[in-house]
Amino acid sequence: MEFSFTQEEELFRKSAREFVDRYVKPNWIELDDGKYKLIDIIQRMGEVGLLGIPFSSRYGGGDGSFTMVALATEELAYGDPSLATAVYYLLNNAWPFMVQRHGSDSIKEEVLPLVASGKAFIGIASTEPQGGSDVASFKLEAKRGGSKWILNGEKNIVTGISLITNYLEEGGFVTIGRTGPIEAKHRGLTVFLPLIKRHGKTMEGFEYSDYEEIGRRGLPTGLLRFKDFEVEDSQVMGEVNGGFKIAMEGFDLARTMIAAASIGATKWLLDEGRKWIKERQVFGKPIASYEGISFKYAELATRLEAAELLMFKAVWAADKAFLRGDNVDILEVATLGAMAKMTAVELAVDAALEVMKWFGGMSYFKELPEARVLLSALSYYVGAEGAANIMRLIVARNKIGKEV
Ligand SMILES: Cc1cc2nc3c(=O)[nH]c(=O)nc-3n(C[C@H](O)[C@H](O)[C@H](O)COP(=O)(O)OP(=O)(O)OC[C@H]3O[C@@H](n4cnc5c(N)ncnc54)[C@H](O)[C@@H]3O)c2cc1C
Repeated sequence: MEFSFTQEEELFRKSAREFVDRYVKPNWIELDDGKYKLIDIIQRMGEVGLLGIPFSSRYGGGDGSFTMVALATEELAYGDPSLATAVYYLLNNAWPFMVQRHGSDSIKEEVLPLVASGKAFIGIASTEPQGGSDVASFKLEAKRGGSKWILNGEKNIVTGISLITNYLEEGGFVTIGRTGPIEAKHRGLTVFLPLIKRHGKTMEGFEYSDYEEIGRRGLPTGLLRFKDFEVEDSQVMGEVNGGFKIAMEGFDLARTMIAAASIGATKWLLDEGRKWIKERQVFGKPIASYEGISFKYAELATRLEAAELLMFKAVWAADKAFLRGDNVDILEVATLGAMAKMTAVELAVDAALEVMKWFGGMSYFKELPEARVLLSALSYYVGAEGAANIMRLIVARNKIGKEV
């Protein structure tokens, strides 16, 4: 076993780090305050070739790996620990990759080159107002109308809607719709790719409103309502009534890289925290000399090392399953992805709370940036891409057995 990356991966990490130092680090606080626009970073990423890494070169992608995506995601989260940039990046790799895997040829040819050049965003519209965890009970209606599919209903807490409508040429969401009776549960779900903007034109048949977020404010999230929204057959992903498996694959993949984002932010927290505890003098000594502080640092640094190893194991399993076609059970990606997300997200939240205590009372004020990281990491703690208990449910079910 080798704990190292290939030369290509190291070079890619270096170029991602250089990009982050130049364009992300100087702007992250203004991005979080809404005074700097994510689109400026996205366009530059497109120009320097940081996007579309795991897509095929046939669709303008880099023929790269999810390991590379995870390395870049970590760097982006280190440079923007409010996570907006890293979340945009990981979503816009995971969900368009599902389009490459399950979409029609015409939709792949239309959308993927635009994603890879920073002109399109493909996110996920899964959660509904009555709840996000119980996917098998989703209701968004998808009915046949002439030669098209017609979508009606609401998807709640959807990231990236106004990013598409305001700034991009094209975009939409991998959307889970009900095509079979509710009693059919997960066997009556189909995945569609409704594009809310196409060739620069905003489509008819949807409304949205953004929520006011407490963290990761550079990337908008809101409510999406479809009203007789028309979808062509070419926008169906996979088989009709076979959507559940596709959606789960997407979540499994995305979660491995959410762990990378949480780890990047934790690295930033611990680096800032370490500098501070060596510098801050209380009772005549640096606070790092008190075991109440240094032992906490040691515990967090140890958890960080463990979480990063787990994350790269999950990403390695995803590379094997999705890109190398090795005979990897998708349940292994699901289990490792859930473990990695759970571990890394809980670490980021714990680290933010601890590091804020090291900075003392001033950490409560916006004059210091650490609280921004807490509020952003909480997005993944309370729900995004699966609530904490659902990660435990996946691990328990896959390790103990479905019967319990
Ligand atoms: C910032 C942010 C961005 C998001 N972006 C998107 C997006 O782009 N697209 C999208 O579709 N969704 C998005 N979401 C929504 C997210 O996927 C959901 O919040 C998540 O799936 C949980 O659904 P819910 O919030 O409706 O909670 P519910 O499903 O109502 O669950 C409520 C609570 O019950 C717990 N629970 C549920 N079932 C069990 C059980 N069997 N055992 C024990 N506990 C259980 C859950 O862990 C949770 O704590 C986002 C969320 C956030 C916070």
